[in-house]
Amino acid sequence: MNYNSPNDIKNFLDSYGFSPQKRFGQNFLIAEDVRRNIVNLLKIPENARVWEIGPGMGAMTSHVLEKLGENGSLDVFEIDRGFIKMLTDIFGDRDNFRIVEGDMVKTWKKYYSENGMPDRIFGNLPYNAASAMIASLIENEAVPERMVFTIQKEVGLRMAAVPGNKEYSSFSVLCQFACNVVYEEEISSGAFYPVPEVISAVVSMTPHSKFDYLSDKKGFFKFLRTLFISRRKTIFNNLKGYGREIVLFALEKEGIDKSVRGETLP
Ligand code: SAM
Repeated sequence: MNYNSPNDIKNFLDSYGFSPQKRFGQNFLIAEDVRRNIVNLLKIPENARVWEIGPGMGAMTSHVLEKLGENGSLDVFEIDRGFIKMLTDIFGDRDNFRIVEGDMVKTWKKYYSENGMPDRIFGNLPYNAASAMIASLIENEAVPERMVFTIQKEVGLRMAAVPGNKEYSSFSVLCQFACNVVYEEEISSGAFYPVPEVISAVVSMTPHSKFDYLSDKKGFFKFLRTLFISRRKTIFNNLKGYGREIVLFALEKEGIDKSVRGETLP
């Protein structure tokens, strides 16, 4: 199939009796140069173990398989039963290709505990679930050497936002707590079929080890959500549930003004 042709995609879907499902964020990347650029950004070593989230009909899957050597493998997470059947028809005879069926947010942990950390994770993510997917990986400390995602532009801006920027949120801190986040490029809606209503962006994420010393990471993630729970409130008001005295003591110790808001705090 020609993944660059909306007509071919439509005919292929028709031959299976399917049409793109909005609820699964199915907008296919029909621009080959954009797809190749995303795969190049992944910097895949020859024998890498790669995970792809939401392969769809396999437009990027095929580019990754081209890059993998004999000992490399690609595991894909797909929710749509129709696409699972298509992917099995197209790539199913390869030894280094596996499909994990179902909602990735629910399936990945078991797969991870049985198969270990991949070297790379990437995907043109469904827009309605992208933040939850990325947060789920970070909060469970499943951060490989490199990740590259296509997401809605606003989500990409949030992931890479710096303090003081209006996009800066608990999600910015969560992503940057684990990784150096680079907002790589924007993708116009014309690069997709069907054409989405939003502009997209590609972000790359490479882990750093700045906060490896933190022993209670779950506690930190909970604290982070509390810090931003109401954007209009000061950090002191948001954190009060931890106890006024302890919060005042901690803020003073760190030299942080209690009247600032989370979005200005590095
Ligand atoms: N990779 C293909 C491409 O670039 O053309 C398709 C990308 S499309 C934006 C998103 C894909 O994610 C679809 O194949 C959709 O069925 C799948 N998907 C949506 N929600 C999912 C979930 N919760 N778990 C796994 N896959 C999901």
